[in-house]
Amino acid sequence: MEEVKVLIIGSGPAGYTAAIYASRANLQPVLYEGIEPGGQLTTTTEIENFPGYPEGVDGNRMMADLRRQAERFGAQIRTGAVTQADLSSRPFHVIVDGTHELRAESLIIATGASAKYLGLPSETKFRGQGVSACATCDGFFYRKKDVAVIGGGDTACEEATYLASLCRKVYMVVRKPQLRASKAMQERVFRTPNIEVLFEHNTAEVLGDDSGVTGLLLRRSDGSESRIDVAGMFLAIGHHPNTELFADQLELDREGYIKVQPGTSKTSVEGVFAAGDVKDPHYRQAITAAASGCIAALDCERFLLR
Ligand code: NDP
Repeated sequence: MEEVKVLIIGSGPAGYTAAIYASRANLQPVLYEGIEPGGQLTTTTEIENFPGYPEGVDGNRMMADLRRQAERFGAQIRTGAVTQADLSSRPFHVIVDGTHELRAESLIIATGASAKYLGLPSETKFRGQGVSACATCDGFFYRKKDVAVIGGGDTACEEATYLASLCRKVYMVVRKPQLRASKAMQERVFRTPNIEVLFEHNTAEVLGDDSGVTGLLLRRSDGSESRIDVAGMFLAIGHHPNTELFADQLELDREGYIKVQPGTSKTSVEGVFAAGDVKDPHYRQAITAAASGCIAALDCERFLLR
């Protein structure tokens, strides 16, 4: 059975950064990319807020660069998804793609989180062409245009107020007669003149043409339909962390995010570290994920030295 010192699961900015640091520390990390190589950033258009790229950088390009940087120092980046992990004793027993078995002295989990989508075929069709799950990433492309935010939680309110500073008008499409967000966030929304909240509306269909999204067909519970003209639709109906593999083995919070000791990447199991969105319900940025990948690699190095 193959034995590795550091096994990294996940290939977003957190996983790759952990691989860069671990390989430079001569720990010969092995990284499995998972089912979405490069992670969520490969589904966005351009990243304009990552320090060091004054002209912006394509999400795919940045992930390819991070990968090359890790490989340069000897990290082994492999295609494949971890399908089973037994964390009950060390070395940890891991199975990749249902067949390949490994024993890992330490584990860095960087499996990320996935934005929830409504599940409409028209939504899938226009993903990346007007349908986005990240206002901070993509909002800039909708300057002076009309857009819609779906959801009524804190994220939706935050995204709506952010978009309101760039866009001409922001509709919030909320399925209930009230917002779920905190009072302070609600007040911010209601104080912003170019946000209109459409309570008790559901999105029935995303409308569009070759240029991308052109509008939304909305439906109320009484069956009545209406249409809004928007160039972008931003989903803010929550994320789910990709922690199913570790559900009964690591301490998770109520939403399923991995709990870490404050200020570190240490999980409830010694030798298992978490980095990136899988442990971060709040910030969810490429730069914060990368930083936490660095922290995980340093914590892991110290653990192995002991
Ligand atoms: P939430 O789960 O709090 O809210 C999700 C929203 O999406 C709700 O309004 C929900 O409606 C709606 N929704 C869910 N599924 C659907 C669907 N299929 N169709 C239409 N609407 C749907 O998620 P958030 O991402 O907003 O927040 C996650 C956590 O992070 C929360 O604890 C939040 O407080 C926190 N957070 C804090 C921030 C801050 O403090 N600055 C900023 C952002 C997040 P319904 O109410 O009907 O269920």
